[in-house]
Amino acid sequence: MPEEKPLDFIRQMVADDVAAGKHDGRVQTRFPPEPNGYLHLGHSKAICLSFGIAEEFGGLCNLRFDDTNPEKEETEYVDSIKEDIEWLGFQWAKECYASDYFPTLYEFAEKLIRDGKAFVCDLDGEQMREYRGSFEEPGKNSPFRDRSVEENLELFRRMKAGEFTDGERTLRAKIDMAHPNLNMRDPVLYRIKHAEHHRTGNTWCIYPSYDFTHGQSDSIEEVTHSLCTLEFEAHRPLYDWFIENLDIFPSKQTEFSRLNFTYTVMSKRKLLQLVKEGHVAGWDDPRMPTIRAARRRGIPPEALRALVAEVGVTKYNALTDIALLEHHIRTELNKSAQRRMAVLDPLEVVITNWPEGKVLEVDAVNNPEDESAGTRKVPFTGRLFIEKDDFREEANRKFFRLKLGGEVRLRYGYIVKAESVEKDADGNVTRVLCIADFDTLDKNPEDRKVKGVIHWVSADHAVEAEVRLYDRLFTEERPDADKEKSFLDFLNPDSLQTVTALVEPALAAASPEDRFQFERIGYFVADRVEHKPGEKAVFNRTVALRDSWAKQGE
Ligand code: ATP
Ligand code: MG
Repeated sequence: MPEEKPLDFIRQMVADDVAAGKHDGRVQTRFPPEPNGYLHLGHSKAICLSFGIAEEFGGLCNLRFDDTNPEKEETEYVDSIKEDIEWLGFQWAKECYASDYFPTLYEFAEKLIRDGKAFVCDLDGEQMREYRGSFEEPGKNSPFRDRSVEENLELFRRMKAGEFTDGERTLRAKIDMAHPNLNMRDPVLYRIKHAEHHRTGNTWCIYPSYDFTHGQSDSIEEVTHSLCTLEFEAHRPLYDWFIENLDIFPSKQTEFSRLNFTYTVMSKRKLLQLVKEGHVAGWDDPRMPTIRAARRRGIPPEALRALVAEVGVTKYNALTDIALLEHHIRTELNKSAQRRMAVLDPLEVVITNWPEGKVLEVDAVNNPEDESAGTRKVPFTGRLFIEKDDFREEANRKFFRLKLGGEVRLRYGYIVKAESVEKDADGNVTRVLCIADFDTLDKNPEDRKVKGVIHWVSADHAVEAEVRLYDRLFTEERPDADKEKSFLDFLNPDSLQTVTALVEPALAAASPEDRFQFERIGYFVADRVEHKPGEKAVFNRTVALRDSWAKQGE
């Protein structure tokens, strides 16, 4: 159990339950995604919480697919959800499907009918809304509410047997049409839907509602602590009503606030629109807020977990600054990512006093934060590339990079002095001619101070790489807050820039998903889909070294 920080209200509740010997001190949770889309960053909070609490208290967490909606669900989503949870670093005790409980749920429904607590209703959707009332007004009883138990049983069985069309009848609980909580006004338990289900095929033509499935599934699995987001708070009385009236295992629901980030949207509908309309390349486009996209972007799962831990568990919904996630990504990658040199916008440098044909293998430190990462050899020669931006013909005294007549250290190599330039017809510098001070490998000159250090690659050894510079997908903190405009109006036109970079040879050999710091530039990952070691180098920028957006607001 975490000891330094005070426990959040959910962990405190679980700790108290354990201490009181409730359920013999057993802790069991579940994560219940609906397999109708890919998991997004918000889900990582629910995952970390339910799996994390089970782990911390020596308990179990089930993965339960809440698959009661036959039309919207697909096996592809089931597979992707499992993969994403494992990638985040969690393992479920059991893989469950709400659809496996259809027979039990059906029995539960018959029991409620027999106890006079459920009835078959012939009102259609519109009529039902009329009868339901509103926050201000109580509802009215359905004219079908007083059917006899026998008639209800018979009609419900005929619903199951497929004798009616979609929407013709429903099964409803008999609770209280004047209840202040609208969810308690004779809620629908079963709907008729002649649709094929991704697991049960055509076995069923009636499907239980979310409310009639969720709590009972918890109860069937003997979940002790059922954690979900705040929008389900108003469903809790119904959750408890079913458990009480069916007299089944008393699972307990507790709600917490959703995780939402600035500069993105998270609802499945909007994410689907981004994909369908081609604003992004797909669900795993590194600019998307899905977990697969985070993975492809090179975000370490540890950073997401650290973010969730920092945001904590509360009862009020708030927007989390995406910069906080970026901070955790940098912190994590600073510790774990090996350093490499890559030049994104190359300018040729020739060292005129370099011995013809000589290749010097210099020692480069893989990770200054981790001595065990060791060193590697990088070829240094008389013809190199540096960043265009690191050279100026003229510059003031604050420019510590390379300027005509000035000196700079080539990282891990020599100090060089720029003596002259060559230009093209438009006057652009195409080549910088330098001389090296051969007395400066691994040591500083005694007679002068050279402040600047820049990165480079050897022209004869560098490998071309496709480098994708990703930025935020939206230009506004809350792209979906403007009632007049669509969130699509705030798409960032510069969210992706692709360049051909020259990178040191070691990078071409990297395995997909290896993460690196390109020195002085940012953190990058070898693309898990398109990078092919030794054949084609493709890197995605995870995050720049510094937050370039922070300055704009100040
Ligand atoms: P969305 O509405 O964003 O499409 P959802 O709620 O329909 O998501 P589910 O598959 O039903 O997605 O969610 C599975 C679990 O994840 C639920 O317990 C839900 O409370 C939780 N969850 C969903 N979105 C968030 C979020 N933004 N932050 C924290 N938990 C979330
Ligand atoms: Mg949902």
